Amino acid sequence: MTNRTAFVTGASRGIGLACAKGLAAAGAKVVLAARDAARLEAAVSAIPGAAWVELDLASPDSIKAAFQKAGRVDILVNNAAITKDNLALRMKKEDWDAVIATNLTGAFLAIQQVLPGMMKERWGRIINISSVVGEAGNPGQANYVASKAGLIGLTKSIAQEMGSRNITVNAIAPGFIETDMTAVLADELKAGMLARVPLKRFGKPEDVAAAVRFLASEEAAYITGHVLDVNGGMYM
Ligand code: NAP
Repeated sequence: MTNRTAFVTGASRGIGLACAKGLAAAGAKVVLAARDAARLEAAVSAIPGAAWVELDLASPDSIKAAFQKAGRVDILVNNAAITKDNLALRMKKEDWDAVIATNLTGAFLAIQQVLPGMMKERWGRIINISSVVGEAGNPGQANYVASKAGLIGLTKSIAQEMGSRNITVNAIAPGFIETDMTAVLADELKAGMLARVPLKRFGKPEDVAAAVRFLASEEAAYITGHVLDVNGGMYM
């Protein structure tokens, strides 16, 4: 991936940080993006040649500014996401809107920022981090699940629009991965989930990063519009 620049959203921790490290190890110049500048600065210091930009995906102006600062992007990893869980009956519209705005609209606007450059280069890789729940549904997460299912539709549509320009667009659907996002879940819930995983362990951020690294590579040139499960078999 020498001479490629990768832009990873939500790269200050968890899966995004592992993706940034994996892409850098494969030779890409990586730009890490998220809201927390201090965390980004600390993360970048451990990744040779990496840069960081502040980005709030809930703000279209912030998205424009971040991509302007980053310059040319060959590989976009739409990884950042938030949750605001509740049963649908009790879910506040503002919590619905916030999750859709960050997870789905933010990813769409980021794609719009990188497409002109990729079209000019006639090369591009867009990888959207969806979720197993975007495929299977999950009670208590209607907003998050809708955003993750929406990312799959977005992936397939842009893949069809951009195929002739040699831009591939794929999604990854992780299962249960050990990060800050899942650390807050109750032990009973985790035990119940583990029982449904044939590989009998939770995933690590590096398991997802390996799939991202492959989809971003030259070797994945003939794969587009695909949803790659990285879930230990919990959903087939
Ligand atoms: P995480 O530990 O909560 O990290 C989320 C990242 O997104 C952080 O870097 C955060 O940084 C950034 N972020 C949040 N809101 C943002 C915003 N408005 N603008 C820019 N950046 C923002 O999450 P994770 O577990 O690594 O998950 C990464 C991705 O994998 C997400 O798309 C998630 O839905 C997906 N996923 C995770 C699991 C799992 O089990 N962990 C399973 C399936 C799918 P700041 O707070 O500094 O902005």
